Parts: sequence; structure tokens; C-alpha cells
Amino acid sequence: MPRFGAIIDGKEVAKNIRKSLKPRIAALAEKAIVPGLAAVLVGDDPASATYVRSKARACEKLGIYSEVIRCDALLTQNELIEIVESLNSNDKIHGILVQSPVPSHIDELTVTVTINPEKDVDGFHPYNVGMMLLGYGGLLPCTPHGIIKLMRHYDIDPAGKEVVVVGRSNIVGKPVAAMLMQKCDMGNATVTVAHSRSKNLAEIARRADILIAAIGRPRAITADMVKEGAVVIDVGINRIEDTSTEKGYKIVGDVDFDGCGEKASYITPVPGGVGPMTIAMLLSNTVTAAEMTS
Ligand code: NDP
Repeated sequence: MPRFGAIIDGKEVAKNIRKSLKPRIAALAEKAIVPGLAAVLVGDDPASATYVRSKARACEKLGIYSEVIRCDALLTQNELIEIVESLNSNDKIHGILVQSPVPSHIDELTVTVTINPEKDVDGFHPYNVGMMLLGYGGLLPCTPHGIIKLMRHYDIDPAGKEVVVVGRSNIVGKPVAAMLMQKCDMGNATVTVAHSRSKNLAEIARRADILIAAIGRPRAITADMVKEGAVVIDVGINRIEDTSTEKGYKIVGDVDFDGCGEKASYITPVPGGVGPMTIAMLLSNTVTAAEMTS
């Protein structure tokens, strides 16, 4: 029977990160600063509402002030911009996020560029994206940064490795590829980015020493696409029908965990892998943003 790869425990690593934020929050408290995060939720997408709730809960547990601004799906773009502008000038708020997706009549980029880059805790503002790409750090996007932190915790050094990222979104695929190819600690990888127009995806994926799946398709990465001993990082969060659960669905990743786990040296589970890291890095960025004001 093949040996199953080591399971990367994102919950545990995220817990360590939250713990490491406590002294920083205490140091801010001495200067009478409480880090504050505002999340704007437009519409009633249930998954978005769940994400925002768990972000707010995570803030409260750590002593970070949090505000959730819930808006009707018919909110206009100008009204949303006004909300963001008022948060920009609110001293209690150090981090602002507009939960994605927003309704289709709102242009996400127009809203993103309205956020003060110093409060852009998602790391999506073109200023922060540019700084990240140039290798200057700053407020880094949460999911890619969380992936790097997970790898660091497990001593998975990407230097000189073949990394294949499947997915080229602005929030996961592109930034994680950019971060892993940087000339810096936890960078220096040889990165290939694949997407829906890539030919021979299985062949490309099998080159990977580190395979990162950010596709949004349940269990799209199967065992035949994984090299023996590869590290497999699954970013996907997909709801699939499951009548045996109370909710009628369950969450699975973009990777066939059971099949790929038999070939991988390390593998992230879903849930409990990358997801908790995204929230931990959001908290970390909020604390960093508060420190920048002190
Ligand atoms: P997007 O839908 O924005 O991007 C998906 C990417 O996958 C696109 O680049 C697309 O290619 C590519 N793709 C789609 N189908 C295929 C295919 N059959 N073969 C190869 N590539 C394909 O998704 P996101 O990046 O926002 O999210 C990806 C997944 O990660 C989702 O499940 C999402 O829920 C999850 N997620 C999880 C987070 C976490 O904290 N764990 C945070 C953010 C996202 P093309 O560009 O050609 O269309």
C-alpha cells in the first residue's frame, strides 16, 4: 500500500500566526490603538456572508475591532464608493475589504482603487500589487502569502524547484506565481502558470515539485497529474451536493485528496489547509496596517 503524504495542517499554522499577533496588538494598545477592520458585503451571496462572518469572528477573538457593513444588492457603484471613502477617513478602521464577488453592475477595479492603499488589507490595490511584483513587500495578498507561510512552516523551500500554479486569477494564481519567482527568501522557484487554455495540463502538472491548484473546479487535479513526491497545495473551495450532510452540501478542494495524497510528499486538506491561512494573513495585514499609523 503506498504511503500517504504528510498532511499540512493549516489550522495549526494559522493558530501560531494569530498567537504571534498578540504581542503586536498589545504593543499597539499601549499607544491606545486598537486595530480595526471593516468588511463591506454587497448582496446576499451565502458563501460571501459566511466568509465575512468568519473574518469578523476571528477579529473579535483576537481583540481586533471589526465592522461589517451589509448593503443591498441594488447598491449603486457610487454609493459603494462613498462607503469606502468614509472608511478611508475613519480613524478606527485600519483595514478595508470589499467582499468579492460584488454584483455585476459594480466595477470591482473602480472600487478597489478607491481604497486607501495603506488600508488595503486584501492587497488587491494596484499600488500594492505593483509593490509586491517589484519585490518590495508591503500589504501582500492574503491567500498567496498564506501559502508561502505554510511552506515556510513545513521547511518546503521553493528555491530552484519547479512550481506549477494552475489558475491565473488576480487574487491567487498570478500573485502566488509572482511571489514564488521573486529573488528572495521563499522565492527563487522556476514557475509555470497554467490555465483553461493550457494544452496538456496533466503533462505540465507532472513537472511540478510543488503543484498549486487554484482553479475552482472540484477535484480537477487527479493522481495521474502529480509527480511522485510532489508537494500539493489545494486552494480550491467548492461546494458539492451531499445529501448525507445536514446542509445538503460539502466543501471539497480542486484536488482529489485521496488519490493525490498517495503520491504527494505533502498535501493540504480542504477544509483545514489554505483557507485558515487566508484569514490569519488578513488579521496580520490589519495589524500591520494599524502599525503603519503608529
Ligand atoms: P477564478 O475563477 O478567478 O480563476 C480560476 C482559474 O482557473 C482561471 O485562471 C482559469 O483559467 C483556471 N481554470 C479554470 N478551469 C480550468 C481547467 N479546466 N484547467 C486549467 N485551468 C482552469 O478563481 P480564484 O483564483 O478566485 O479561486 C480559485 C479557487 O480557489 C476557487 O475554488 C476559490 O473558491 C478558491 N479560493 C480559496 C481561497 C482560500 O482562502 N482557500 C481564497 C480565494 C479563492 P482562465 O484564466 O483561462 O479562465
